[in-house]
Parts: sequence; C-alpha cells; structure tokens
Amino acid sequence: MKKNDVVSLTIEDLGADGMGVGKADGMAFFVKDALPGDKVSARVLKVKKSYGYARLMELLEPSPDRVEPLCPLHRRCGGCQIQALDYQKQLEYKERKVKNSLMRIGGFAEDEIPMRPIIGMESPYRYRNKAQFPIGRDKDGNLTAGFYASRTHSIIPVSDCYLGPELNRDVMERTLGWMRRFDIEPYDEKTGRGLVRHVLIRYGFYSHQLMVCLVINGGFLPHAEELTVSLREIPQLRSLSFCINRQRNNVIMGDEVKTVWGTDYIEDTIGAVKFQISPLSFYQVNPVQTEKLYNLALEFADLHGTETVWDLYCGIGTISLFLARKAKRVYGVEIVPQAVSDARNNARINGITNVEFFEGSAEDVLPQFCGQAGFGGRAAGDGGTDRAYGNPQVIVVDPPRKGCAESLLETIVRARPERIVYVSCDPATLARDLKFLCGRGYAMRAVQAVDQFGMTVHVETIVMLSHKNLTA
Ligand code: SAH
Repeated sequence: MKKNDVVSLTIEDLGADGMGVGKADGMAFFVKDALPGDKVSARVLKVKKSYGYARLMELLEPSPDRVEPLCPLHRRCGGCQIQALDYQKQLEYKERKVKNSLMRIGGFAEDEIPMRPIIGMESPYRYRNKAQFPIGRDKDGNLTAGFYASRTHSIIPVSDCYLGPELNRDVMERTLGWMRRFDIEPYDEKTGRGLVRHVLIRYGFYSHQLMVCLVINGGFLPHAEELTVSLREIPQLRSLSFCINRQRNNVIMGDEVKTVWGTDYIEDTIGAVKFQISPLSFYQVNPVQTEKLYNLALEFADLHGTETVWDLYCGIGTISLFLARKAKRVYGVEIVPQAVSDARNNARINGITNVEFFEGSAEDVLPQFCGQAGFGGRAAGDGGTDRAYGNPQVIVVDPPRKGCAESLLETIVRARPERIVYVSCDPATLARDLKFLCGRGYAMRAVQAVDQFGMTVHVETIVMLSHKNLTA
C-alpha cells in the first residue's frame, strides 16, 4: 500500500479526533468525514508502520447513522467533526471514548469503571455562548471572518455558525462593515502586520447580555466611536472592549483589556447563582449542560454543611459558589488574575461569604496549605486559626486539557480528602490522572460523561473518587 493508491474501506470505528477508521490489507486507515457503517473509496495520503491516512473520495454506501447536517461548511470547517452523525450515535461514541481512555490509558478493567449513561443535550445546535472569529483576507484579498479550516490557519468565511446564537452574524457583519468603511486592516499572521486579529463574542443565554471584544495587534482602537454606534444598535450589547495582543503566536487573547463602551463584564446566571464574566475569564461554553454538570459536582461532593472544600482551577468561581451553599467553607484557586477578581466579585454579588479565592497555580498554592506535616505552611503560620484549611474533606479539580500537574496530584494524595471530584474536558489526561490517584488509595465511585460540545468530538466527564480507607 502506498501514497495515492485508492482503497475501498468499510468504516468500522471512529477515532478520538472523529476520523472514520477502516481496514485494508490488515492496515487501519483514518479517513476524515467518514463514519462508522459507511462504505467508501479513499485515496491514501500517508502510510505509517501499522496505520495510514486516506482522503474520502466517494461515499459508495452511506452509513444508516448519517443525517443531513445543518451547516453547509461542516466538512471544510475545523469546528465540527461529526455533524453528519446522528446525535444519539454521537453520544454513544463519546461514552465509548471515555471508557476506552480509562481502559487503555488508565489501565482500568471494564468492570472497574462505574460508568453512568452519558447526559446528552436536548437540542444539540446553537448551544455555545462564546465564539472567537478570526479575521483575515481570503485568497482574493477580500476581508473575511470565519473559522479555521481543520488543521490549518486558512479562514473559511462563516457568517452563521449553527453552534452559536444567530446574533453573532449581526455582530460580525457590523464589525467587518466598520473595518471596510475605515480601511482597518486585519492582522496578517505571516507578516505580523495589520490590526484586528479576532472578534470574541459572548452572550449570556439567561441574561441576554452581549459582550464584544476585538483582539488587536496594537494599543489603540481607531474609530472606536463609530464601531460603538453601530454595535449599540444591537439592543443586547452591554460591553464593548478591545484586548491587546502584539505577540506573534497563535494564542488568541492578550493580557490587557480596555473597555470602549458599557461594563467591563457581562452577567449570566447558572441555576440560582449570578456570575459576572470578563473577557479574559474562562466561562463554560454551554450553559444548559453546565448547570447539569455543576449539579453533579454538588451531588458527588456530598456536602452536609460541615465540610472544607478546595476548588482547584476555579475560573470565575462557578463551582466554588455552587458548592458554598452546602459546605462550611470553600477555597478556590485560579491562575488568571481577572478570573480571580471576577470570582471574588461573584461571591459578593451573591452574598456568599464562606468562600475565599487565591490567585496562583494550583500546584503552587495547594501545598502552602495542605498536605504538609502539621498542615504546614501558611495555615500553621497564621497561628493555626483555621486548621481546616489543610484538612479538606473534598477537593474538586477542573483543569484545562493538559490535566493536573503530577506534583499537584501528590499534594492532593497527601492532603487525604475523603472525596475528590474530577471534572475533565479531556478523557486522555483524565485517565492518566485517575491512574495516579487510584494507585494511591482512591477508588472511582462514579464516572459520568456530559455532552457539552454537540457535533464535535469533545466530551466533558465528571468523576467521583473516594478514599478507600476513609469512607465506607
Ligand atoms: N471550574 C471553572 C473553570 C474551569 S477551566 C468552571 O467550571 O468554569 C480551567 C481553569 O483553570 C481556567 O480558568 C484556567 O485559567 C485555570 N488554570 C489553568 N492552569 C491552572 C493552574 N495551573 N492552576 C490554577 N488554575 C489554572
């Protein structure tokens, strides 16, 4: 088998990144846009030792699980990988993905995994409250906004993404119109010149408050007044700002934000808790599913009003504030300064006084309080007034995709909480970290996947662990 050969494949499986997998000549081929049950012909792109990649040429026989996707650009755009797959099948795939990771990477046996059925979305389109549109020029030099094609940085013009609210289109048309009118240049990654890099839009699904933040390669937004006038015609607008990012890398946001009009944040509510969210703070993208996720966090934490809880990677304090209603005290740790200040504010506006937030990395902050002999560090130095600091009953972690630093897991094990609630957006690093914890006294009691990201291959998982010697 070599490059450019055409092979017929029956697709049997879906890989972790959403590519169909079929076998020819004993070799597994990964084919983008092919789905389990499809019979396809595909052209070989690349051959490795035991597997290869091939491009879908013709759908010889479509899978019974295929549906008509809403978005005409779903194959070109890198945002949705599995829009053509029936939603129920998407859910089955995600549940399998979590279980397979725990088995392959975590080394758990199937019957050791207390998996609950995945929680799906009632309507799997238009669920995202956040969009980041890159701005650039197409090959004919026309100003364009959209999304990156898969694995590239070429922009596919998308005026209406079916994962986000329809309102986004109006924001983008007005922003591009303003750029054309005043000859404002989009940023060019190749030369590092030009001004506007991305447009960040956030929309509070419950509050109906709209935030627009232009990420610019400069310290000043020209013709800000005219942009304000145009965007203010959208009645939901509450906050217009720009974020300075002069770095030549592909990190989207910079670290400085200036408000042009309105408030520095928007508000939204999840359950009974109100949140202020500023442009640099993380906020879950799917508010409907997030509420289900946080309720599970509350159930898994199993609080009775007496517990000390640490919420690591706490963002704007969402999980902390959810848990505070049932805990004695909650300590949150977060690395982004703006998010910490949002978290403190959020405690205040909800009248929640039994929480405290620390700015810093979880791996640096937690050992200052927990897991040291005699509870060590700052807690003891404070005269030991609140020794509960170092003796939490529950630790919650919700890290980004790369998972927890091993040093943090070691601190957690030394702190010996009764329960650990692990919220994860990456099954592979989750499995790695669970292997560590389960090798050191903890056992998984419940594993629950929650679909926060319909049409994509991503899946959120929440796991409850408890200490084998501390709990029944
Ligand atoms: N629990 C929150 C946020 C989860 S996202 C929620 O549900 O909304 C992960 C968060 O971890 C982000 O806010 C990110 O800024 C933060 N973060 C990333 N690395 C970190 C680290 N090493 N220590 C503490 N926080 C970190």
